[in-house]
Amino acid sequence: MKKRTLAIFLAILCLLPVLTSCAVRPYSAVLYNKMNTDVLITLYSDGQSQKAATLISSCEALLDETEKTLSRTAVEAELARVNASGEESLAVSDTLAAMLRLALALAAETGGAFDPTAGALSALYDITGNAPLPPDPDELAEAKTFVGYGALSIDGNTLTRPVGTVLDFGAIAKGYVAALLVDYLTAEGVSGGVISIGGNVAVFGEKPNGDAFRVGVRHPDGGYLGEISLHEESFVSTSGAYERFRVGTDGKLYHHIFDPQTGKPAESDILSVTVVDEDGARADALSTALYVLGYDAAISFWESSARDFDLILLGKDNELFVSPDLAFSIA
Ligand code: AMP
Ligand code: MG
Repeated sequence: MKKRTLAIFLAILCLLPVLTSCAVRPYSAVLYNKMNTDVLITLYSDGQSQKAATLISSCEALLDETEKTLSRTAVEAELARVNASGEESLAVSDTLAAMLRLALALAAETGGAFDPTAGALSALYDITGNAPLPPDPDELAEAKTFVGYGALSIDGNTLTRPVGTVLDFGAIAKGYVAALLVDYLTAEGVSGGVISIGGNVAVFGEKPNGDAFRVGVRHPDGGYLGEISLHEESFVSTSGAYERFRVGTDGKLYHHIFDPQTGKPAESDILSVTVVDEDGARADALSTALYVLGYDAAISFWESSARDFDLILLGKDNELFVSPDLAFSIA
């Protein structure tokens, strides 16, 4: 080999790692209308967009399957059938049984601020539909009698609950399914990625260049409150009244997060709460529960939970609390 050819050959050899790392491009797909929200999946795969597309199709199938089990509103869904059933005790699928166990544990952990029986209220207020608001006081009093996770039990695959109970996993299902997708993609050898399902974002693995994953937190008034930097697999869940609401005939604003104690949309002094946890379902359930609890009680809850999750609270007077271990930069 001539000296010049050898030099070129060596130069290419040195460049090879740079060129291959350039090939690691994110592959993203937006799946609209899954679980009543937009889903965005970004995978870092080594330029194999074909494989990434196949994986995303499987993710879509998993999302559809979960929705068919856990949706309160899709008539064909298992949960909708369970809610409509006149049997006090009935057999449910493994997925529904697992979800119920998880939901009951989180309801107990939050003292019922998160309560999967809040469905009676979701159905009555019908925030995304057009039932009259405010609801009829007698109907509200009746719906309230069906709220209370203590009346529920799950033994193996047998669910027992008062007939008329309306189970609702809207506060937990997005985080739960995000975790399922992360497990699936990790098992498939995906080196890293970001999954966004409505107000829930999961990051896993690592970025090809080793940079932190950056997750933006929306300001309820529009724009961004700030950005979280994450290096480890994490689930970020945000709740706030600004997400879904409707104005009643009384001119009042009715939103979608209910206080199980009052049966009304929670009168929270929180504008937005973000929870970061290693468990997707817990991050989701806690963000909803802490919204119900309110600013000071949310901080007390975080302290008494041995600070085992991270937290961003934006209060109604724009006061901000950020747990000290969280890398958060304010916009
Ligand atoms: P999120 O957006 O995660 O805060 O969840 C809100 C959704 O959870 C609502 O749209 C209802 O379907 C349901 N939900 C509302 N209030 C509660 C509550 N206190 N406990 C459990 N689920 C609730
Ligand atoms: Mg939630």
